[in-house]
Amino acid sequence: MAEITVVGGGLAGCEAAVSLARRGHAVKLVEMRGVKGTPAHQTDDLGELVCTNSFKSEDPQNAHGQLKREMRLLGSVLLNAADRTRVPAGSALAVDRRLFATAMSEAVAAEPGIEVIRAEIERLPDGPTVIATGPLTSDALSAAIRGALGDEGLAFFDAIAPIVHRDSLDESIVFEAGRFEESGDYLNCPMDRDSYEAFVEALRTGEAHEGHDWDAVPYFEGCLPVEVMASRGVDTLRFGPMKPIGLSDPRTGERPWAVVQLRREDRAGQMWNLVGFQTRLRIGEQRRVFTMIPGLADAEFLRWGSIHRNSYLNFPQRLSDHGGLPGRPDLVFAGQLTGVEGYTESAASGLLAALNLDRIVAGREPVVPPATTMIGGLYRFLRESTPKHFQPMNSNWGLIDPLNRRIRDKKQKRRLLAERAHDDFLAWLDQVEVAPAVDPGTLM
Ligand code: FAD
Repeated sequence: MAEITVVGGGLAGCEAAVSLARRGHAVKLVEMRGVKGTPAHQTDDLGELVCTNSFKSEDPQNAHGQLKREMRLLGSVLLNAADRTRVPAGSALAVDRRLFATAMSEAVAAEPGIEVIRAEIERLPDGPTVIATGPLTSDALSAAIRGALGDEGLAFFDAIAPIVHRDSLDESIVFEAGRFEESGDYLNCPMDRDSYEAFVEALRTGEAHEGHDWDAVPYFEGCLPVEVMASRGVDTLRFGPMKPIGLSDPRTGERPWAVVQLRREDRAGQMWNLVGFQTRLRIGEQRRVFTMIPGLADAEFLRWGSIHRNSYLNFPQRLSDHGGLPGRPDLVFAGQLTGVEGYTESAASGLLAALNLDRIVAGREPVVPPATTMIGGLYRFLRESTPKHFQPMNSNWGLIDPLNRRIRDKKQKRRLLAERAHDDFLAWLDQVEVAPAVDPGTLM
């Protein structure tokens, strides 16, 4: 048994604390709300949901559903609290947020091994620690993290461009090429003048998400929302991220009027992001406007664009494979701070951090599930992303290894991916000597 500090009583911190206590450790769970608030939380409750009351789909053939299966096998306290406080929402798992936060607080209080302390942590604690202070990590602790990781190690805003699945692109339109016949690392969606001007008009008139005052993002000239660039003039994008220079459309042999370039996000080449298309457009508007791009009419969007205030670490550049601080494997980061995006993704990373800290204090090596599983795919993304372009990621099927044969039917493909993920996650638990927290047969 070890004494372990968990900083942050949000979704990841509560998961980590309960999981560590159940493994027999003495946990100090330090949460600052009660003595110091955040700009978004409204209460002092542990596990408060700051926005929507939905944890998304439970259908295992949905990437979020598969993530939940893996979390249930790891004994998720969040899902247990959600089950007990759910409200009807079709195939989604939605909750009464007040009852949910109460259930989370009760689950923590029910663990005799957890002491809850209300205080702001201002420096990285000594001894085994999980840091799960989330997207609104306090300024003092942010400064301490920057001190440990360097200026490039911690970002305060995300500027996310949408990502599409390669299998869903129209190959008769989209072409591979780099500018001036450099290596064909990009996929290009060519536009003629009419389609470009209609596209710019749709961007300019699209409805944007307003956000909260505190969420006001200081836009940098190099990273403006695509709709803001469009509103500056009809040619701004054509001389910016949509410039056609050095490219010719193989169908015509001519230079297009404008081009949307897609850049690879993963080694398997399943996930492609729309270069320079960070956006605050509402999701419905993104669907409407971005499917106007030639080649993207039937695109599967694995992630929508967004721009938020969000503290997150440059995981691929600065952290070890399990999210540890280099030179201090017993200090593990978890939750949104690691660069995962979303309630359940954050909680899942709290569960993995707990499993690993338990191993580390016992002198064992940390582990990460294989990349055929959803948690394994997320961690591979964190580990292998290009540090320069690193942006937070939510769970989606593009993260995990493709099947070894191409299957056109989307439903069948997802069923097979989900079956494999489930089997591989169980095999991995067996390998790392963790007993499933629930009967796997009940999760089918
Ligand atoms: P949190 O749940 O934020 O928990 C971190 C905790 O650490 C907080 O309780 C905080 O008070 C505490 N803390 C911070 N600094 C210190 C310190 N120095 N010492 C002690 N305690 C500290 N995701 C979704 O899936 N759906 C959404 O609708 C959604 N909406 C969001 C809206 C907003 C405004 C924000 C900021 C994020 C949103 N997210 C959403 C993203 C993310 O999933 C959630 O923020 C999620 O709560 C992250 O979990 P976490 O445990 O990493 O952080």
